[in-house]
Amino acid sequence: MITEISAQQLSIIHTINDQDNQSAFSKMQNDEIVALFNSEDVSALTTIELLNLLEIANAVYRAGYPLIDDSEYDGTYFAELKRREPEHPYLQTVEAESVVDAKTVQLPQKMLSTDKAYSFNEIEKWIKRLLKAAEEINFDADRIEIRVTPKLDGYAAFDDGEKLYTRGDGVRGQDITRAFKRGLQVAGNSERGLGPGEIVIKKSYFDNQLSEHFENSRNIQAAIIAEKKVDIHVQQAIDDGACVFFPFSQIENWQGSRHSLVNDFESICESIWNAVDYDVDGIIIETTAEELKQYMGSTRHHHRWQIAFKVNEDSAEVEVLRVIPQTSRTGRVSPVAELQPTKLSGATISRATVHHYNMVKTNGVGAGAIVQLVRSGLVIPKIEKVIKSVEPDLPNECPSCSTHLIWESDHLICPNKSECPAQTENTLIHFFKTLGNIDGFGPKVIEKLHAEGIKKIHHIYQLTQETLVSYGFGDKTAENLMTQLRSSRSIQIEDWRFLAAFGVTRLAGGNCEKLLQHHSLEALFDLSVEGMVEIDGFATLSAEAIFEGLANVKEEFFKVYPLDFNLEITPIVSLSSEDEDQLVLSGKNIVFTGSMTTGSRGDMEKKAKLLGAKVAKSVTGKTTYLVTGEKVGANKINAATDKGVEVLTESEYIELIG
Ligand SMILES: [Zn+2]
Repeated sequence: MITEISAQQLSIIHTINDQDNQSAFSKMQNDEIVALFNSEDVSALTTIELLNLLEIANAVYRAGYPLIDDSEYDGTYFAELKRREPEHPYLQTVEAESVVDAKTVQLPQKMLSTDKAYSFNEIEKWIKRLLKAAEEINFDADRIEIRVTPKLDGYAAFDDGEKLYTRGDGVRGQDITRAFKRGLQVAGNSERGLGPGEIVIKKSYFDNQLSEHFENSRNIQAAIIAEKKVDIHVQQAIDDGACVFFPFSQIENWQGSRHSLVNDFESICESIWNAVDYDVDGIIIETTAEELKQYMGSTRHHHRWQIAFKVNEDSAEVEVLRVIPQTSRTGRVSPVAELQPTKLSGATISRATVHHYNMVKTNGVGAGAIVQLVRSGLVIPKIEKVIKSVEPDLPNECPSCSTHLIWESDHLICPNKSECPAQTENTLIHFFKTLGNIDGFGPKVIEKLHAEGIKKIHHIYQLTQETLVSYGFGDKTAENLMTQLRSSRSIQIEDWRFLAAFGVTRLAGGNCEKLLQHHSLEALFDLSVEGMVEIDGFATLSAEAIFEGLANVKEEFFKVYPLDFNLEITPIVSLSSEDEDQLVLSGKNIVFTGSMTTGSRGDMEKKAKLLGAKVAKSVTGKTTYLVTGEKVGANKINAATDKGVEVLTESEYIELIG
């Protein structure tokens, strides 16, 4: 419900350019607009009324004085238009920013919107489109890499190194270089010229320093780029580094295969959604494969190789009962708020993690505080803001080992790396959880083993059934645990997953896979920082952290690695072009068909890839060889020959590769 339109909002509405002359925005009055927005039933609105609503909502939103919230805009009005007229041109245009009367300039590069999905089902459909495109250009589906980033809810802008532009209508925007002249920094102290991004404000800073002066962070984004003199509080936020320009290329991300994305969708969503201390209104999922991106291209509105996942949010005001510190495997102590149990999006919520202890301290989260709790669909609920603060209780000692905690930027850290039970136990739990091929070594079992002095992964593999029984496990349980340990080595897992299980900072699955596409598992431990930076996607800072992390786990790694795990080796994908040319199958497109006698078809495909071939599932004009196993129909062979494809028997193929 909207009760009133402010003078500020009305003046923006009056400047909307009514191109089709179907609605006289310049004459619309306060009560007319209110009545329009408060219509009981959107399906009863005429399409023109619906368009008016969208245009008004969009114009005031862009100008920094929103009338309705995002989910209402997207979920109610935009969705209704889409339902009614799926081909309507409004759905295809980039939502223009209301920068009336200001001079616009050509953007160095088009800035498109992102297509939106509201369910996992829609994400799966998008993946199918990727796979279809991959097949059409004979791009190996296993090489499709997916990148997931937070969808920042800021002010879209483009930095070409000289000027900063607003997104405008996607083709022409305004020159707002003045924001940099006012001292605006690029996030992470990065250099200028990194292209598209968003101007954003740290959420904790806004809540703490700016919320009494501004209604919402959008007002501030507008103030940062305002032509007139910048507001004193906003200037302070710029000087404090709380307002930054965040280039998309620099943002926290998850990378991995489409299988990992589908398998771990919820946890990936959750961690990316909460990865930054800025307003986030969804996550962006895209492929990084250049060939695919070029082939799929874009509509006028969005890139086809990218999609945003958004969910409708549900929120409630909840009382905090107490805040408990929990030490993670890295030593970081997380504040977990126990809450008055509350129903949200169909689930009862009784605890939520607070971003970090600095937030507990500055925003006053403690027993008796009232917080706004938000749950976005599948994602674990988070504390959006503090409504009533209290004097917070900060722990001095690690809840697990009683070591004096130290501050490291926004976090409290337990510095006791070697003897802290929580860190040790969580490291062991992380190992088995990441391997993911057995489920017997969860928190309860690990806690019991740790109490008996088991502190290392390789110690667990030295256990016998008798020892387990002597620790108090029942005969059956002990036997079962032994079987599970054997299974953890015999059930095949990817080598990148094995590496990720050691829990090195910044070495989650995606980065492990990327490193292993260039170096073998063993060779990684001898890789220099410089060598790592040469690989696409590793900046110096991450490389240094990974280098140090690998050195820390090296001893333990080489005690566990020789235990005969059944590892699936990541194929080396990008050799230097010289090396690549020397491979026997480089530049060849191969399709395997029928059942093979020398090994499984999957193994043969993998081997072919290692030898430089591109492997596809079906024969096209681009196919070099069709390798036929047993029981292949004559039709299939004739069809291939007609396309000019050379048909090889399995033994001819084996001879070819030597
Ligand atoms: Zn500790």
